[in-house]
Amino acid sequence: MAGLYVHIPFCKKRCLYCDFFSTIQLERRTEYVDALLKEISARKEEAGEPIRTIYLGGGTPSMLDSIDIFRILRTIGTDDAEEITMEVNPGDVTEKYLSEIRQTGVNRLSIGVQSFKDNLLQLIGRRHNSMQAIEAVRMAQRAGFDNISIDLMYALPTQSMGLWKADIELALRLGVQHISCYGLMYEEGTALTAMRDKGEITPIGEVQENEMYDYLCKRLKEAGFEHYEVSNFALPGYESKHNSSYWDGTPYIGIGAGAHSYIGNVRSWNPDNLSKYIKKTRKGTLVREQEVLTEKELYNERIMLGLRTSKGIPLSDVHVRNGREMVAEMTAKETLLRVTEDGRLVATQKGIHILNRIIEDLMI
Ligand code: SF4
Repeated sequence: MAGLYVHIPFCKKRCLYCDFFSTIQLERRTEYVDALLKEISARKEEAGEPIRTIYLGGGTPSMLDSIDIFRILRTIGTDDAEEITMEVNPGDVTEKYLSEIRQTGVNRLSIGVQSFKDNLLQLIGRRHNSMQAIEAVRMAQRAGFDNISIDLMYALPTQSMGLWKADIELALRLGVQHISCYGLMYEEGTALTAMRDKGEITPIGEVQENEMYDYLCKRLKEAGFEHYEVSNFALPGYESKHNSSYWDGTPYIGIGAGAHSYIGNVRSWNPDNLSKYIKKTRKGTLVREQEVLTEKELYNERIMLGLRTSKGIPLSDVHVRNGREMVAEMTAKETLLRVTEDGRLVATQKGIHILNRIIEDLMI
C-alpha cells in the first residue's frame, strides 16, 4: 500500500515564522488545480500499489473551493483509501464548507490552531484568532468529522508555562482525537528570525522549552493520548496513518509544486516554483529531480525517522561498527535510550530533548 501527498501552496498571507514553500498568488489557483489533475492522472499508478492514504497539505488547502477538492480526489480515486486528510486554516472555514469537504470523502482534518491566545497568534503572524480556532473545531465536529487533529505551537516568545498549560487544557476540552505540537523554530530568512536578530523579540530559552515539552507529554498521557512520535499524540486508534507511513518507509507519491516522492530507494521532487510547475505540467515536460539512496543513506534515514517514533528501531539494525558502543553508553541507566523487551531501541524522555544529536551520533 502507498501514500499520496498533494501540495496546495496557496496562503492568504505569510506567517512570520514560516519557511515552507507557499505563495500568495491566489489568482493562480485554477490553473494550478488543472496542473495537479494532469500530474495525478499521469502518476497515480507510479508506486505500483493501491493508494491507502491521501494527504492534502500546504500551504493552505482550505484556500481551494470544495469542488476543487472533489475533483482532486476523484482523479486520484479513493476506493482503497482508508485515510484522507486535509489541512485547514481556522480563518477560512464555515460549517457549510466543512460539510461539503466531508462529502468529498475527506475523513480526517488537520486544523492549524497553533495557539488559543490572540496576542501569540498575532505575534507569529497568523491570520485567525482564538474564537475562530475553537469554532473551527466545533464546526468540523458538527459537519461529521470524528477524526480531528489540531496543531499547537510552544516556545513562542512571551508564552509562559501558564499560557501553555491553558492551551493544552482547552485542546483537551474540545475533544479532538489527535494533537501535533511543535516548538517554534527560528528558520533562516524568516521575518520572525529577523525580529529576533534585531532584539524585537526574545526566544524563551531551552530550559523552559524542555519544561513545556515535558509537561505536554505528561498531561496528554494522563488524558489517554499515546505519544507515538516526537511531535504527535493520538487517542488509541487515531494515529495518522499517512504520516506513520513516512516514518516506516512506505512508498509515497508527491503531487504538486515542491512535493517529494519516495518509491523504492529513489527520492524525487518537483520544482518548488509555481510558474515552472504549471507550465511544464501543462506541456507534459515536467522533470523531477531525483536521487537514488545508497545503502548508507537508507540506513541513516531509518535511524533518523525510526528514533522519532515510540516504536523505535530494532537494536539489531544498528550498525555494528559504529553504533553498538554508543548505544551501550546511551542505554546505560536508560539515560538517553532504552531497549524494549522485544529488542527495539527507543529514545527516553531525556533523550528526546537531544534527539538530533543522538541521531547524528548513530548515523554512519
Ligand atoms: S499558513 Fe502555513 S504554509 Fe502558509 S504561511 Fe502560514 S505556516 Fe506557512
